[in-house]
Formats: sequence, structure tokens, C-alpha cells
Amino acid sequence: MSAGPSRRCPACGTSDLVEFADLGDVPVCCGVHYATREEALASPLGRIVLGHCPECGYARNLAFDPAALVYDTTMDTNLHHSPAFQAFSAELVKRLADRYPLRGATVLDVGCGQGEFLRELCRVAGARGHGYDAMYAGPTGPDRSGAVFHARPAPLDADTPRFDVVTSRHWFEHLDDPYGFLVRLRELASGRPVYGYLEVPDADYDLATAGWEVIYPHVSYFAGLPLRRIVERAGWRLTATGRLFGGMFRYAEIAVNAAPGAPLTGALAGPATAPAAGDAVGPGPVGAGWFTADRPGPADRDRLLAAIAGFAGRHAAERRRWRETIDRLRADGRRPVLWGAGSRGVQFLHLADPEHRLAAVVDVNPRKWDRYLPATGHRVTAPDSLTGLGTSAVVITNPAYRSEIAAALRRRGIDAELLVA
Ligand SMILES: [Zn+2]
Repeated sequence: MSAGPSRRCPACGTSDLVEFADLGDVPVCCGVHYATREEALASPLGRIVLGHCPECGYARNLAFDPAALVYDTTMDTNLHHSPAFQAFSAELVKRLADRYPLRGATVLDVGCGQGEFLRELCRVAGARGHGYDAMYAGPTGPDRSGAVFHARPAPLDADTPRFDVVTSRHWFEHLDDPYGFLVRLRELASGRPVYGYLEVPDADYDLATAGWEVIYPHVSYFAGLPLRRIVERAGWRLTATGRLFGGMFRYAEIAVNAAPGAPLTGALAGPATAPAAGDAVGPGPVGAGWFTADRPGPADRDRLLAAIAGFAGRHAAERRRWRETIDRLRADGRRPVLWGAGSRGVQFLHLADPEHRLAAVVDVNPRKWDRYLPATGHRVTAPDSLTGLGTSAVVITNPAYRSEIAAALRRRGIDAELLVA
């Protein structure tokens, strides 16, 4: 879409996208870390110009260039190093295994990362599976879990293994053509009943907050209504949707060629929440639990459009506020540090600490230790490096990890204020 003149909304197909925020140049390779500062400083930047659909609230980077971003094994977007994410993922696997008839079924996992989720799903549910990801760096081929791993993007061609369930977590938002992806999956179902589970960052969260998760690799931003629209327009039925992980993620359960209800058991998040056309039901609770369900309708669209209208101003104000906060903490001798060098952290550093005023950047992922982050060239160290640093202010960009980071600080005897950006 970005290369052509068409700005038609891929979710609802009825309106053209309208620009609402220009974030300028940001790091393209948020998930990459480099051996030297020189390489990190030379890593590419790309433009983010956000546009939205006034009809359904879908948002997208209008300046996205698919050629700028290459997914390979140097990318590390793995979230499984965090105990909070691991616990969430394990609970999700249990719920999916309870809800779907997975024993003996074949799961196609598109964008499988390092395979943790698919392996666990196969093991717990007695399923088989095929996982595809160009970032997958483990052994390829079958393993003992029942899963087969392919270190390349899912081809979605005639050779795609026959599947009963398709899962895709934190990949759909990276696609240049998410509508075409869903259409292709429906075609591959070839009239068989197929169920699907999609999980994306929730746009209601990302666009209503500072937007640290508005990053170059994320082409699309889906809240409930646009996700529902794109699923249905691509010929799938949306069987349930809602928020996960304290409201930061959104899931969609989808089905094609399957009778409504059967053979699903229970629901991923409480009572079944199949939305009917024209529903005007308000949003479910946000932030409290890890699993909530809602029925996106016009009220959600209005709330989302209000968040979009305020986004550019809020984003710029948060950028400024955090630069000032870091300066103030430094001037007060607090030796502020950032905990978390994932894509949110990289975006935060680029926007709020380009002059390296932070005393350190730490992360729990050992693969990042003593390596350098894109664009700004911040060096990442182990959490243990904070011992003796004399810091009394730790900045985090992801509230979901607050309690585990607080506990990690206590374990190290570090008495520091936690500041959530
Ligand atoms: Zn739309």
C-alpha cells in the first residue's frame, strides 16, 4: 500500500486513511542489537507517518517501506525471557488447549518466534504443528514436542501443510498486507473447518498512551473494531475478541467453515462473546486481568478516534516530559537507568535519551548483554551491573513488568523508585 497511491483502509475497505501524526525518523531494527557502537549508530532509520481510518479506527504507518526491514536471525523480539510473559503464555496455552479440540490436530503457527509457544501448545494439547519464522534460530525440522520448525517465513503456498488451527502472535501487525494474509489463510482452509487465534498489541492502549510501542516494524495498529472488520471482510467469523496481559494485547479468535459454537468448549476469557452486527456494547474492563472479553462496536470506535485525535500532541509532550525528567533525575544525583531493552525501550531511548543521560540500560536477556542498541548506540548490561551503581531511579516502559522488576531490584538490595514511562 505504501508504494502505491491507494490509502484505502484494509480493515473495513470503505474509507481512505487520513494522516494524524508524523513521528519523524525512528530506528528500523528495534529488535536487533549490535556488537559495536559504530554498527549500532549506523543502523537504519525509517519514517513513521501514522494514518487512520475515520470509519473503523484502523491505523497504519503510511510511510512504511517493506524493503527497509529484513527479518532474519539477527532480530531478537523474544519476550519469553520475562517471567510475567512466560506465565501469561503458559496460561494462554492451557486455555487454548481447553477450548479447542487440539489432540491430534495440526497447528500452523505463523511468526513462531523461537517456538516456545508452539512447542508448549503441542506438548500440553497433544497437537502437531508447523512453526514458521525467519527470526527462528533454533534447530529446524521435527522435535519431540510434535512441532516442526522452519527458519523462514510461512510460504502460504500450495505446499503449506494442511492445518486445522492457525495461530499467529505478534506478527499480524508487522504485515504490509494483513487483509491479503487472512484471505490467503481462508483459501488454504479449502472448505475445511479451521479455527484461528491472532494476538496483536492493542491499539486502544498504544494510541491512548505515550506510544513507545509505536515502532517501525509495526505497520498496523488494531483495536477491537478494526480487527473485527478485517477478519470479517476477509471471510472469517470472529468468534471472540478481547484484551490480554493487562490490556496491552488484543486477541481475536476466528473460524471459517465451522458451525457457530461447535466444537468449541467454553471461552478463552469468561463467557462466550460472539459479537453480532450492529452491537453497541461498551468495552470490557481494561488493565485488571490478563484475560478480558469485549464486543467492539461504535462506542469503542469513538473512544479510539478520540485517542487518535490526541495522539500527536500526547506523544510529543511525553517525549519532552521524559527528556526533562531524566535531566532532573541526573541533576539530583539519582543516576537514572532504563530497565528493558526491547523494542519499547529502544524507541524510548531514541525519543527521550539520545544524549545518553541515563547511567545504564539493563535487560534480563543475556543475548543483549554487552551489545549496543540501534540508532542511539546505548550499551546493554546485565541487571547485576546495577549493584554498586548508586541508582535510585529505574525507568521502565512496560507497566506489565512492574512487579517482576521491583522484585528483581529488591533481590539485589537496590532501593530505587520505579518510574513507568
Ligand atoms: Zn476502516
